[in-house]
Amino acid sequence: MTGWVAIVGLGPGREDLITPQVTETLAQATDVIGYIPYVARIAPRDGLTLHPSDNRVELDRSLHALQLAAKGARVVVVSSGDPGVFAMASAVFETIETHPEYTETDVSVLPGITAMLAAAARAGAPLGHDFCAINLSDNLKPWAVVEHRLRMAARADFAMAFYNPRSKSRPHQFGQALEILRAECGPDRLITFARAVSTPDEALRTVTLGEATPEMADMRTVVLVGNSATKRVGRYVYTPRSAS
Ligand code: SAH
Repeated sequence: MTGWVAIVGLGPGREDLITPQVTETLAQATDVIGYIPYVARIAPRDGLTLHPSDNRVELDRSLHALQLAAKGARVVVVSSGDPGVFAMASAVFETIETHPEYTETDVSVLPGITAMLAAAARAGAPLGHDFCAINLSDNLKPWAVVEHRLRMAARADFAMAFYNPRSKSRPHQFGQALEILRAECGPDRLITFARAVSTPDEALRTVTLGEATPEMADMRTVVLVGNSATKRVGRYVYTPRSAS
């Protein structure tokens, strides 16, 4: 029996936003590895071992997946959204780089619908022109880098999506991020707070930067900021396809 590792995205929450490719791969799996709330989304069945683990142990998880596959297991590593967006795919490749004995392991990455795209679709089309995605967490990079990227993206007039905007362990930084955005973009720029998109707790709210407060975001929120042309039409927010 030949083992493999598939690193898959479970989408933003709704079952029907999981791709058929991911569903078929899960049906063949012997083991599922991932962060506790994501593994909780997988239905238990005979022949399937679930390995939930705590946050911030991405490299241990990756090594565990590669070790199981080497013994013949069919391992699915789960992320929410897309596995390549601030998630497990890079962690697995980092682990292969430091453990070259796994270079020939059969590893595949199966895409999913990432939070910013699910949120943008609910809001209208706020990412309809050039945009960028920034992880506001400073777990894996200095906060000064976050601030610099934020400023440069705002100056380049990108629409922006922010992941991990605010957590209990760093409650003040998102306020600083909003200050930078107000200074660079002015108070009238539209900002959408999209919480728990595609789940029963979903809540979307669009305000101006002048009205935005840090409490509007938490760890289940992805934040979308428009570019200078982003506007409202009815209850939707959209960014025109062209720029002058
Ligand atoms: N790989 C994931 C992102 C993981 S980082 C993806 O592609 O979506 C975790 C962050 O993603 C959260 O802090 C939040 O900013 C965002 N997020 C994940 N699911 C979300 C959802 N259903 N609604 C809103 N934001 C979500």
